[in-house]
Amino acid sequence: MIIAEPLEIAIQELSKLPGIGRKTALRLSIFILRQSNEDVNRLVEAISNLKTKLKFCKECFNLATEDLCPICSDPDRDSKLICVVEDINDVIAIEKTNEYKGVYHVLGGVLSPLEGIGPNELKIKELISRIEKLIPSEIILALNPSTEGEATSLYIANILKDRNLKITRIARGIPIGSDLEFVDEATVIRALEGRIQIK
Ligand SMILES: [Zn+2]
Repeated sequence: MIIAEPLEIAIQELSKLPGIGRKTALRLSIFILRQSNEDVNRLVEAISNLKTKLKFCKECFNLATEDLCPICSDPDRDSKLICVVEDINDVIAIEKTNEYKGVYHVLGGVLSPLEGIGPNELKIKELISRIEKLIPSEIILALNPSTEGEATSLYIANILKDRNLKITRIARGIPIGSDLEFVDEATVIRALEGRIQIK
């Protein structure tokens, strides 16, 4: 069977998305093809706005529509408490609990020598400058409990060891290999509340 070129291109582009195989990409393409022009335009605009209307907060690297994200620009958030997370979806997971009142620092990944991700690929230098500026009383390491997440926590704890600052890590409520974003809110709250001091 010959697939018309525009359909083939749509399948190829959609199947680059995480979790979308060729079969699902074909199904999505046919679904989109059957939608009205208005619906398709709304979808195209929504995707395009992600790149044109959103940027990364210049302080914490969370998503923002201005220079600062809503959390960094909120005077009620406690900047003496910085929660270090792997990615933006972890901020969303913790924010959903409504329990955390500090600020965040989004690393943009974890150390992974196999994938060529070293300290310079993550926002670690920026974390150090923020610590120097905000003089926090506590840094919470809330990285996911994968081997890479553990290694990244240890790395950060080690470079901060000579500073006068409490370092904690979230408790083990979260099963190994699962991400903060996939656990329920009660578990995220328990993991934060039961955090363990490592320095
Ligand atoms: Zn921010």
